[in-house]
Amino acid sequence: MSIKSTILGFPRMGSDRQLKKLVEGFWSGKVTEQELAEGSKKLRADHWALQASYGLTEVPVGDFSYYDHVLDAAFAAGIIPSRYQQVDNSGTRAYFAMGRGLQNKDVDVPSLEMKKWFDTNYHFMVPEVADDQAFKLHSTKVVDEFKEATALGYAARPVVLGPVTLLALSKTAKGSSSKPLDHLANLLPVYVELFGLLAEAGAEWVQVDEPVLALDLDAAVYQAAFTQAYSELSKVAGLKFLLTSYFGRLGDNLAWAATLPVHGIHLDLVRGSADLDSALALIPADKVISAGLINGRNIWKANLDKQLATLATIVSARQGAAAAPVWVNSSCSLLHSPHSLKPEAGHLDEETLGWLSFAEEKVEEVAILAAAIASRDSVAEQLSSNAAKVLSRQQSARITRPAVQQRLASLDASSYERQAVFAERQAVQRETLKLPVFPTTTIGSFPQTAEVRKARAQFRKGALSQAEYQQFLDAETRQCIEWQDACGLDVLVHGEFERTDMVEFFGEHLEGFVFTKRGWVQSYGSRCVKPPVIFGDVSRPHAMTVDVAKFAQSCSPNKPVKGMLTGPVTILQWSFVRDDQPRSQTAGQIALAIRDEVVDLEAAGIRVIQVDEPAIREGLPLRKADYDAYLKWSVDVFRLATTGVRNQTQIHTHFCYSDFNEIFTAIKSLDADVITIENSKSDLKLLGALEVHGYAAEIGPGLYDIHSPRVPSVEEMAARFAALQKYIPAENLWANPDCGLKTRGWPEVKESLTNLVAVAVAARNAL
Ligand code: GLN
Ligand code: ZN
Repeated sequence: MSIKSTILGFPRMGSDRQLKKLVEGFWSGKVTEQELAEGSKKLRADHWALQASYGLTEVPVGDFSYYDHVLDAAFAAGIIPSRYQQVDNSGTRAYFAMGRGLQNKDVDVPSLEMKKWFDTNYHFMVPEVADDQAFKLHSTKVVDEFKEATALGYAARPVVLGPVTLLALSKTAKGSSSKPLDHLANLLPVYVELFGLLAEAGAEWVQVDEPVLALDLDAAVYQAAFTQAYSELSKVAGLKFLLTSYFGRLGDNLAWAATLPVHGIHLDLVRGSADLDSALALIPADKVISAGLINGRNIWKANLDKQLATLATIVSARQGAAAAPVWVNSSCSLLHSPHSLKPEAGHLDEETLGWLSFAEEKVEEVAILAAAIASRDSVAEQLSSNAAKVLSRQQSARITRPAVQQRLASLDASSYERQAVFAERQAVQRETLKLPVFPTTTIGSFPQTAEVRKARAQFRKGALSQAEYQQFLDAETRQCIEWQDACGLDVLVHGEFERTDMVEFFGEHLEGFVFTKRGWVQSYGSRCVKPPVIFGDVSRPHAMTVDVAKFAQSCSPNKPVKGMLTGPVTILQWSFVRDDQPRSQTAGQIALAIRDEVVDLEAAGIRVIQVDEPAIREGLPLRKADYDAYLKWSVDVFRLATTGVRNQTQIHTHFCYSDFNEIFTAIKSLDADVITIENSKSDLKLLGALEVHGYAAEIGPGLYDIHSPRVPSVEEMAARFAALQKYIPAENLWANPDCGLKTRGWPEVKESLTNLVAVAVAARNAL
């Protein structure tokens, strides 16, 4: 018996981020539209060939995207706000304008809003649906890619973002009031037309991604929507539908999802393994079960024996003449995995290399499972090699550090508490820091100019010595501090010139982390990140930022310079995390390392310390039932990291979002002295939340958006600041930008911050 083996999607960027180079080249005019199209076609062909080379029996198509798959789906359905339709009559330009905005002498349109894709670190573009929204089939991309794959001889399965999820992830356009989901009936004909074309082109199965099924859904609304959608779609003759959802259990949605008129259901058996028994009971035997057994979201080698046992359970439960076949699949798209381990050979040590599996290796794991269920002997060697490597990770002495584990286990309540309550701390901090009302500050980084990047590259190549590089960084820092002082800012920062990335920097100094050479994953558009790998117990062999902070403070005799650290939740959230202990425990270990750094900074005379936690919110679980447990430990680890200091030391934290209704209580419990928070892009969501929940400590809602080179005027920031003063008492209000300035250029930074200081000074004078 041969069993279908496939994956839900493959990473798009290419082994060497070729797609990034193509699209960025296209944006800058160096790559023509035709070169972009041809380069992309080659990438797709390479990726299908790779999958086939390991023996996958079917490849996904349509998983490729120039920018984002949600944008693709919106674009294909003609959900294109009128401001983009004016951009250009060429599809690609309007498409990219929706993704990244467009500013030239004729047009000035910002991009669509960007949001995290469920609880991953991938961001999608949020479609906007207007009251009078018209839908029409605007792109046949997936059909074209299907034809491309079949012409190359592959058995291919088109992947389409399902209509319910597309609308559920959309937002109501400005000035409209209908909910996107209200438009389902009007959207469906577009899907019917598209699926008709796929059937005509010879597709047998279509993978319809409906990951909203992993969320808490209003069953009445969503059961009706799904039933309506899939009853309509199932009328397309000759097509079979695999309904896929991933990132978690289907849970209570399973009972009705199992009965939808589709031909197969995919189960994420990594994060949603709790579904298995009920899925076997509820999914009718004539529907295919696609068993998502290989984790698309982490980089550890699968335990193939264990997954094989699960697969065997499913296969034996689905015996009998009427039973539909079982497929072997990845848990979710491999979009969230780096491309291949091959470039890591020689970079990572052999042992670590043996523990890992990137997209290419995951494809092989899927193929091995499928082969093993037919004949274990046929892959006996691969299975035993896998078992040996899994065992090697379980037993490696490099993973455990008993001292770290003991320290974490023996903490008592006092390790999570400041010495005094906020009001008392605020009083002492006022006395010692002597800041004016409406203090001004920035979030940490200053422009990472070409010069800064060049010096770092030269240092890494050995062309600059350690001393020369240090000299360069010191000069940058000094200049930056002198400029901030002259500009009139009150709490200064060193500028973070020594850091490429706020997580990488700390990972490089901590034990328990390794760094890959090419472990890139797409974050949004052409942007990729290279998350560190946390493989073992974390500890801090030496201070990480104390020298830099001391030097920076020495450049500023009168004003405090903030020590800048990244918080434990963010370090965890933006890394690939070990799966052999709870995330909370790994976060606790990181917190101890940060705590020691905070204490060392204080001892070195640093009076203000910021611990950034921009990722606390994105770590929120998909299901509300899991919120409390997560928020409890994430607050705990932040407090563990920050409460080792005296009352006069001012602890700041920073968040890159303003939508924090769900986590407001947790934010309060962090017990930071000052929070700086994104605000300028949010239509005053933050103020609404402040009004509802109240906030007693000091707070700096961002006065302008740093994601664009635009210089905010004094007037617009003054208006925003005046609005803030209605909600926040003057003695608690700070003036600062939304986030760090590293992606900006100096000229606009100088102008923007000069304006910002002017706003604060005018507000002070008006008191
Ligand atoms: N301190 C960091 C910076 O300024 C914070 C970045 C972030 O919030 N993402 O760059
Ligand atoms: Zn930020």
